[in-house]
Amino acid sequence: SIIIFGSINIDLVATTPRLPVAGETLLGEEFFKVSGGKGANQAVALAKLGIPTQIVGRVGADDFGTELVNNLQTSGVQTDNIFVDQTVSSGVAIITVSHTGENQIVVIPGANGRVNQEDVERLSHLLPEARTLLLQLEIPITAVVAAAKAAKGANIKVIFDPAPAQSNLPDELYPLVDVITPNEVEAAQLVGFPVDGEELAAKAAAVLLQRGVKCAIVKLGAKGIFCATAEEKFFVPAFPVHAVDTVAAGDAFNGGLAAALFEGLSLHQAVVWGAAAGALAATKSGAQTSLPDRFTFNAFLKE
Ligand code: ADP
Repeated sequence: SIIIFGSINIDLVATTPRLPVAGETLLGEEFFKVSGGKGANQAVALAKLGIPTQIVGRVGADDFGTELVNNLQTSGVQTDNIFVDQTVSSGVAIITVSHTGENQIVVIPGANGRVNQEDVERLSHLLPEARTLLLQLEIPITAVVAAAKAAKGANIKVIFDPAPAQSNLPDELYPLVDVITPNEVEAAQLVGFPVDGEELAAKAAAVLLQRGVKCAIVKLGAKGIFCATAEEKFFVPAFPVHAVDTVAAGDAFNGGLAAALFEGLSLHQAVVWGAAAGALAATKSGAQTSLPDRFTFNAFLKE
């Protein structure tokens, strides 16, 4: 199976004619409540592709927590190792989106911020049965590093999405990572120079390999993907689709990539799978709702 060790969040989205200013009360128009969190999104991406998927993480002892766990189960994700933290709220993102496309986002990490060594221990019990571990950066970095160490010790492949963007990751993390998958913004934060387009992506990937990752994949949005290991370097163009909302495209990419590697396909084919899943997610609005199921995915790849 594939295990995701990461964040589980509820997004509360309000749409407004414009963003409110400080102290202002504004009448909005619509309200949506959607399941999110990069960890949960990547888990759902994999489960929808038919991969046996389990998530290890935390929610709060509130209605959101119950709902988040139920939604993951409905998508086919194994949730036995989600710990319900009695001391804190579930992770919540409060999002205001204006007609002009601007947004304001407040993220309360809540239970995600409490992920710690106890969760790493629960993870460790599952590792002998697993083939791959997926990590992101919406839980404390100490827990991410400990999880990567545990996976390394159990000989499990680690796929690490350094999102949301962060600079100064601990040096010890890189050699524990098999595949790192930044987008342009995240790659720039990690390497300390702007990353825009294939040439700079290649430079950034070289730096990341130098730091000890085995494979660096830089996601360049609608442009495509650059991939480098010690043995090979290649570029895969994005699938030409009509994009309506790229939210969760990066998570879909990681799901497609991990699914292909899980099924024993080549690195090149895995990047193509990632690109296909990312492109399909971009054609639909929403986060988890935009992630393709296996039927849609296979049909798209055959086209
Ligand atoms: P993130 O969502 O992390 O910012 P990207 O925007 O690079 O990452 O999207 C991840 C992947 O999804 C891309 O590498 C690409 O394969 C695919 N993708 C994203 N946007 C589009 C698009 N407009 N058209 C086609 N594919 C896309």
